[in-house]
Amino acid sequence: MKEIVVVSGKGGTGKTTVLARYAEIAHKAVIADCDVDAPNLHMLLSPRTRHREAFVGSKMAIVDPDKCTDCGKCEELCRYDAISAVDGDGRKRAVVDIDSCEGCGVCVRVCPEDAIDMRDRTVGEWFVSDTGHGTMIHALLEPGAENSGRLVAMVKHKAKMAAKENEAELVLVDGPPGIGCPVIAALAGANIVVIVAEPTVSGLSDFRRIADLAGGFNIKCALVVNKADLNNDVTASLLEEATTREMPCIGRIPYDEELLAAMAKGPDAAREYQGCPAMIEISKTYDALQWIL
Ligand code: SF4
Ligand code: SF4
Repeated sequence: MKEIVVVSGKGGTGKTTVLARYAEIAHKAVIADCDVDAPNLHMLLSPRTRHREAFVGSKMAIVDPDKCTDCGKCEELCRYDAISAVDGDGRKRAVVDIDSCEGCGVCVRVCPEDAIDMRDRTVGEWFVSDTGHGTMIHALLEPGAENSGRLVAMVKHKAKMAAKENEAELVLVDGPPGIGCPVIAALAGANIVVIVAEPTVSGLSDFRRIADLAGGFNIKCALVVNKADLNNDVTASLLEEATTREMPCIGRIPYDEELLAAMAKGPDAAREYQGCPAMIEISKTYDALQWIL
């Protein structure tokens, strides 16, 4: 089983469009959307969800008000200031602010009345869906919730399990933007990383950062320049930078208003955009990948 991960140094570079096209061409790959904070692959592939499950990201403390004697120990020792004494029914009790609780469990250990329990905290959901091009595993983290790296790792694990079940030979991963923990989780186990970059000064800097990250894990990388004709000078700099890193550039996608207009109509317009110049170039990058996978 091979795994292709498509990433970019930041969002909005066309990474998801590239991944969606790869899914259309590969047809029977398992698709993993690892952008769990702001997923948008579903807008291109119209998945039909057949299984959904809560994602337990961490624990949180809950005080039993009937047992609490307001001794103040938990409030004193919670380093996140997540506990305060609140008046009610003529006496004070400890109450946990669940948004501040980090789930460290210190309060449970110090409570002399055994009044505090740790409970699972659900911070998102993950899904198994069917698309016209194969099974898709995706997820959505609640706004502001932490542990996106763990959720990404889980999405990838489920995708690999689905690939085994379906006897699929390819897992296609839409990576999260940036270079943080979720991206590291998305890169783990990749056979090749496709870096989609735009020819802007910040795009060049983003490319260097993500290339450094992937290079640090010794993963083979390939460059795709999106909207390459919008700035030929920076495109040349991107190619030069890739050459220095011995990274092949497998495609230069032109800026294509025809594609943007077709995609704005939604997934049902897929047939319309397959003939767009940009889409043809993206398809060629998939062919090029087969030689270096
Ligand atoms: S679990 Fe830790 S962070 Fe949460 S309330 Fe208890 S001591 Fe504070
Ligand atoms: S340590 Fe236990 S008894 Fe004391 S205030 Fe906290 S919850 Fe109440």
